[in-house]
This record gives sequence, structure tokens and C-alpha cells, in this order.
Amino acid sequence: MNIILLGAPGAGKGTQAVRLAARYKIPHISTGDIFRYNIKNQTPVGMLAKSYIDKGQLVPDEVTVRIVRERLEMDDCKNGYLLDGFPRTVEQAKALDGFSAIDAVVNVDVPLGKLMKRITGRRVCGKCGESHHVDYLGGKNVCAKCGGELIQRADDNEETVGKRLDVYVSQTAPLAAYYEKKGVLLTVDGDGEIEEVFERITERLDK
Ligand code: ADP
Ligand code: ZN
Repeated sequence: MNIILLGAPGAGKGTQAVRLAARYKIPHISTGDIFRYNIKNQTPVGMLAKSYIDKGQLVPDEVTVRIVRERLEMDDCKNGYLLDGFPRTVEQAKALDGFSAIDAVVNVDVPLGKLMKRITGRRVCGKCGESHHVDYLGGKNVCAKCGGELIQRADDNEETVGKRLDVYVSQTAPLAAYYEKKGVLLTVDGDGEIEEVFERITERLDK
């Protein structure tokens, strides 16, 4: 099954993606993770991506599309994949249509007003990648899953998040209508416990 996870920054795409990939035994492909890996390793793509990400802007379509196309050509995508954070523009969606067929697009819907607090309070495990929220950490800075140290992403500060939310509304939100027209959109209420949202998604996908 070829699945896209759609949703605003902080809607919980990454959190759900890890669980969905395990359940359906398909690779989890996050463009944000790919860019962060490249930034960490100071590759040319990383340097370029960083100049946009730090400003809360999107990395240019041309670069992002190439990275995804190359990734989807790899062997582990033969029996399906889960895209998290791509496409993020109608242009990217059109490009994707040119090299892969999509079975389902899960739109994780969370009220915009809740996202700022979710993202600025987010702490990510440096070891396993799991996301946590400061409100549930009890002052500790340790991953409950693996014991790793938690860090705050450089682009999770209030100013950059504000810009990312604007970009989402203007460039990414229109994708819901794009996939609705194709008849593959599944909108799921993303406001709730992690397990609860996971159940809602799998219930729809299993049908
Ligand atoms: P979030 O969904 O929490 O905003 P991601 O980890 O998916 O964060 O992405 C972080 C940043 O990487 C984005 O704000 C954007 O700058 C860049 N990025 C990720 N995916 C794409 C994409 N498909 N197109 C352009 N830029 C992207
Ligand atoms: Zn961890």
C-alpha cells in the first residue's frame, strides 16, 4: 500500500508514521528526517535545505521531488511506502503522480489553534526519534521509550513555527482538495491521544 500522511506541522504525522510503518511493514519516508540527516552530515543538499528550514520556508520543489523520487526507487519501497511530509505543495503532488500511484492519503486534522503549543513544547529523542511533549515529561529530559537524551528542533521556536503554519495554510492545505477529487482522501480527527488517533487511522485504512 502506498500511503501519504497529510497534516499541519505538529499534527502528529511523525508520531503516527512510525507506528503505521511498523503495522503495515512498509518504510517510513520523512522528507524532514532526510533533510535533517543531510544537515547533520553537512552534505550539499543539507546546506541548501538548512537555509530554507531555518526560515520556516519550504525547500524548493525541484530538490525535494528529486530526493523523494530517488528514495521511492529503492528496493524496500516495492511493496509500499508511507510518505510523511511529502507532498507539501500541489506542484510536488503533481510530480509524484508522474512516478508513483497513491492508494490512500490520510489527512490528520488538528485545529490550527492547538499547533503552536504542540510544536514549541515538542522534544525529540536524539537516539530513537520519538517525539515527546514537555507537559508530559515531568521536568525530565529523557526519552521514555529508549532513555535517550531529548532535544528541541532548531525550527521549533515560536517565530519559525508561525511561519511554518502560514506556509501550511497557503501551500499544503490545498492538497486535501487535490486528493479528495481523486477519491483517495481519508480525513481523520487528529485531536486526541496517540493511541486513539492511531486506531482511527488504521480503522479507515483496513477497510
Ligand atoms: P513538520 O511537519 O513538523 O513541520 P518536518 O520534519 O516534516 O516538520 O519538516 C521540517 C522542514 O523541512 C519543513 O518546515 C520544510 O522546511 C522542510 N521540508 C520537509 N518536507 C518538505 C517538502 N516536502 N517540501 C519542502 N520542504 C520540506
Ligand atoms: Zn528514544
